[in-house]
Amino acid sequence: MNLPSQPFDLAIIGAGINGAGIARDAAGRGLSVAILDASDVGGATSSASTKLIHGGLRYLEYYAFGLVRKALAEREVLLDIAPHITWPQPFVLPHAEGMRPVWMLRLGTFLYDHLARREVVPGSARIDLRSERAGRALDTRYRTAFRYWDGWVDDARLVVENLKDAAARGATVLPRTPVARAERVDGLWQLTLADGRSIAAHRLINAAGPWAEDVARKVMRLNDAPPLRLVQGSHIVTRRVHLGRDAFMLQQPDGRIIFIIPYEQDYSLIGTTEGDVQRPEDAKVSDAEVEYLLSAANRYLARPLTPDDVVHRFVGVRPLILESGKDDKETTRDYRLVEHPGLDAMTIVGGKITTYRVLAEDVMARIAPKSKSWTGKVPLPGGAIDRAKGEHGQAAFKRWLDQLQAREANYDPRLVKRLAMTIGAPAAELLAGGLGRNLGGVFEAELDYFKAQEWAQSSADVLWRRTKLGLHLDAAAQAEVARWFGETPADVREIPAGHRFARPGVD
Ligand SMILES: Cc1cc2nc3c(=O)[nH]c(=O)nc-3n(C[C@H](O)[C@H](O)[C@H](O)COP(=O)(O)OP(=O)(O)OC[C@H]3O[C@@H](n4cnc5c(N)ncnc54)[C@H](O)[C@@H]3O)c2cc1C
Repeated sequence: MNLPSQPFDLAIIGAGINGAGIARDAAGRGLSVAILDASDVGGATSSASTKLIHGGLRYLEYYAFGLVRKALAEREVLLDIAPHITWPQPFVLPHAEGMRPVWMLRLGTFLYDHLARREVVPGSARIDLRSERAGRALDTRYRTAFRYWDGWVDDARLVVENLKDAAARGATVLPRTPVARAERVDGLWQLTLADGRSIAAHRLINAAGPWAEDVARKVMRLNDAPPLRLVQGSHIVTRRVHLGRDAFMLQQPDGRIIFIIPYEQDYSLIGTTEGDVQRPEDAKVSDAEVEYLLSAANRYLARPLTPDDVVHRFVGVRPLILESGKDDKETTRDYRLVEHPGLDAMTIVGGKITTYRVLAEDVMARIAPKSKSWTGKVPLPGGAIDRAKGEHGQAAFKRWLDQLQAREANYDPRLVKRLAMTIGAPAAELLAGGLGRNLGGVFEAELDYFKAQEWAQSSADVLWRRTKLGLHLDAAAQAEVARWFGETPADVREIPAGHRFARPGVD
């Protein structure tokens, strides 16, 4: 792609959720934007999260009321603007002898209910596990629990949705384009890209997530780089532990909690561990972490999991603000915007998927204070479906999906649902145009779409981020996708920087 010689208003290093959210917001306010990523868009932390839109019930124990309130309010917003990739998610939090007492769980869930306005997210309730379906998944010694609600989001798709909207509003999106050097020349930022090209911008935002300190120090060569604490978190994907839609939040004797979340119909997602790591590249799911997660889950499950039940594992690195004297559980999950004085540059530190949109608004309030906030009311591209006046995105999406399944009755309704819950609104056109060759569970028209509209350049981009078909397709179908992208067997094993998926046989 030829790059313009005119300076952009804004260049963003890093197309994770924070960079993508800023790019969308800024482009919508009329700024010319370039956003660059060293790897696939959303290929690092923003596709390796637990995928919860949550305030974080456990952060109440650290009195993080401000963060929890801000994040809880965002649940309703994200459920509305991205209804095709989000849904309200119930959690069952069992009471366990010797751990937090029942009154504390009641108080926590009560506070959680009341810290922010709720429209589609239901309130919490005490439940009897002996008479609830969720109880069947748990050992009979667990009798009392609380059910509370948060949101679920497909994190990798949320990144792509933001970038698609940014691009539709004029932003230039450059995946697999590492920024090698950024320097201030005559009042402008000159960015030298690893492929030798260059761009200029009036303002620079470093949204490199776990690499933010490195980018500030080594790429921007600033000596006021904010120090980060890098904490790796691992997840495993196992056979589904129960069929209901409840997730479980399970307290552990070491004070940690782990989640077991229904995942991709047939599976459960279990995470996370926490442990310091020196460099993002060092993060790796260790066998000890897999054992920890299995035994943490088995402390509660009626039918214990074994290592053979683990079908997939992945790791992400939290870029936390370094707070001396605090351990990783206590360290804030909030974000900080660090301005580099006099340089029209800012480094983003910390944050959550949940708060990306308010983070972007905070950034805009600093760099374009006269412009207006808009992203909380305008659906992301996949969520742009007809809505009745005042109708919430979740209700509109359900109605639209029913209609789409009825209209496209020639297709298997599960396929229609899969596409609708992946790309949202554009699924209607894709289906109407015909899906082309079936490569064993994925269709050629989908691959065309991901390549042309969503910057997919490899089979891993499609199988693990644009979709999670990597969990569902057999080896032959995955090889077909790889061939479609012109990959050799060695390429198929490519593991994106900073986001190591350890598939069976690949580590
Ligand atoms: C295990 C785990 C679970 C989590 N669970 C949740 C959750 O359930 N809910 C929630 O709200 N939050 C959660 N989070 C937090 C959330 O995932 C992160 O805060 C968020 O993804 C960070 O996004 P980011 O855009 O800052 O960073 P990233 O997504 O890491 O993006 C940074 C990007 O910068 C790019 N980059 C780096 N160097 C360069 C360079 N020189 N040139 C160009 N590009 C560069 C990288 O390739 C990368 O894509 C979790 C985090 C972890 C690790």
